[in-house]
Amino acid sequence: MKVLVINAGSSSLKYQLIDTITHQSITKGIVERIGADAEFSFSTRDDRKIKSAIDAKNHTQALTYVLDNLKDPANAFIKSLDEIDAIGHRVVHGAEEFSASVRIEEKVIKAIEKCCEIAPLHNPPNLQGILACREVLPDTPQVAVFDTAFHQTMPKSSYLYAIPYEFYEKYGIRRYGFHGTSHRYVTMKAAEFLDKKLDEFNCITCHLGNGSSIAAVKNGRSVDTSMGYTPLEGVVMGTRSGSIDPAIVFYLMKKENLDAKQVDDILNKKSGLLGLSGISNDLRTIWQEELKGNERAAVTRDVLVKSIRKYIGAYMVELGTVDAIIFTAGIGENDWNIRERCVSGLENFGIVLDNQVNRDAKGAITDLSPFGMKTHVLMVPTNEELMIALDTEGVLKK
Ligand code: AMP
Repeated sequence: MKVLVINAGSSSLKYQLIDTITHQSITKGIVERIGADAEFSFSTRDDRKIKSAIDAKNHTQALTYVLDNLKDPANAFIKSLDEIDAIGHRVVHGAEEFSASVRIEEKVIKAIEKCCEIAPLHNPPNLQGILACREVLPDTPQVAVFDTAFHQTMPKSSYLYAIPYEFYEKYGIRRYGFHGTSHRYVTMKAAEFLDKKLDEFNCITCHLGNGSSIAAVKNGRSVDTSMGYTPLEGVVMGTRSGSIDPAIVFYLMKKENLDAKQVDDILNKKSGLLGLSGISNDLRTIWQEELKGNERAAVTRDVLVKSIRKYIGAYMVELGTVDAIIFTAGIGENDWNIRERCVSGLENFGIVLDNQVNRDAKGAITDLSPFGMKTHVLMVPTNEELMIALDTEGVLKK
């Protein structure tokens, strides 16, 4: 099956055409700055990147460009749009409405609309992507794959906050968790790699990128995760603070004369690695500064590592038996130094790294622990788009 995977943002439309038989991406690309000075870039069959300015005033026009590009004979991706068997959409928030991927019908659109209140930045553009596809390809089946769905198996003890219960009942304030598609994908891949049955597989998945989250997975199901009601909670991220004492919010509002929106902005966009280091949200840049002797860069890395280790420790206790600790996403897949620091000194818990293998790991799933360890440390490249494509196929074949 050929599935067009769509990830629609407020002014962008990211896509990938995936063959679910070969698991290969046929092409991928993005339309950015929809609405003003739009730019379209895509990858050719021989993996060259081509960029051009286009006139796309809305998501429907952006999608039309993408589809014209897909069927352009010069690119040799597909001969006609009939070859696109289905469309799979990344939808950020499914709240308690969705615990699995679903075929998009009228009542699903209504439910996604309802979730906009909880995810006002993400769900409305996701919905725009869905509506644009319905307009341009009305006969192609569409499936929604939710970032939150994997974590819907969490027990109440993991998802309730200790605030008055009525706020959960009235407003749905609880932990939802995000990056679910990635956590689920790397869990599946790791179980397969270690030849374990998914429903008997326990792991801690560390999705460490610009946004980061960690999940505790018991018998293949998420039982806890670090992100919460929003993606702000949890480990230190590129520009997000992760968990802090909530009293800091009120103190800052008073002292700096800020309103709620301004503090929200600081915690989401000016904190994390960027705020602490004063250098960058990109760990590679911070690492370069650390090598030059910049102390704030060094302490930023230490704070990041400590925040990750706290979750690993907590989830080891929560799971009891851990078959694998998994590192994935930009930092988790590429930064051997962070991986090394995150699991150093855990020998007494049966967690050991083969340092050379860890340093050499690149591009493919790798067991970073020495032979015979009960708890494996794995680097698993994530592939959320492939997971969305496979889910889309799975839902439609049901
Ligand atoms: P992601 O959000 O998964 O695309 O991850 C992006 C982040 O991964 C960047 O902000 C970098 O901090 C980090 N990253 C990517 N490549 C490397 C690398 N080779 N070494 C260290 N960090 C990296």
